[in-house]
Amino acid sequence: MKAQRTRSQGKIIEVLKGLKGSISAQDLYIELRNRNQNMGLATVYRSLEALKLQGQVQVRTLSNGESVYSSIQSDRHHLTCVNCGTSIQIDECPVHDLEHQLEKSHKFKVYYHTLEFFGLCDRCH
Ligand SMILES: [Zn+2]
Ligand SMILES: [Zn+2]
Repeated sequence: MKAQRTRSQGKIIEVLKGLKGSISAQDLYIELRNRNQNMGLATVYRSLEALKLQGQVQVRTLSNGESVYSSIQSDRHHLTCVNCGTSIQIDECPVHDLEHQLEKSHKFKVYYHTLEFFGLCDRCH
């Protein structure tokens, strides 16, 4: 399936790439408004869904059930504290090579992967 990227999708990708972390659809909607890129919330959701299916955005669900989006380029992983909710970003990707192996052995095009670690942070344990 080769979908054409719409103008709205292009703007969303642009914003996501400029961000350090991930963002919820609601915050993304506000961010777009701040940049004078007025887009309805429904369009934001629809565009994010389309981009997800194209493998251009990554979705992560937080412990409060909220979905946050980020651009695929950021292959980043987190250490999340189950007590205070602090999320520490780790720089290296421990499964980068595994991804290539799986693509070969299963003939599967991997868009992205998720990997998270949970436990107690320095202040909580
Ligand atoms: Zn903590
Ligand atoms: Zn990774």
